[in-house]
Amino acid sequence: MPGQNAQRRKACLGKQRYATHADAEAALRALAQGRDWQSWLAVYRCGFCGGHHVGHVPAKVRQAILARRQEVQ
Ligand SMILES: [Zn+2]
Repeated sequence: MPGQNAQRRKACLGKQRYATHADAEAALRALAQGRDWQSWLAVYRCGFCGGHHVGHVPAKVRQAILARRQEVQ
């Protein structure tokens, strides 16, 4: 599938891999400490290596979260 290698490079290779969601979440909390939560880091399950990574939330997801927050307030 064309583009899959580039996708894997971006989402998986070169990133810290965590065996469990809890591990990744602990790392995320350490990374986000002292920072604005607007840095939008999230834990995601990796379809390439089966592990978990910490990465930035895509703009599309970010907008959905913000829209939902505005509804709640
Ligand atoms: Zn991965």
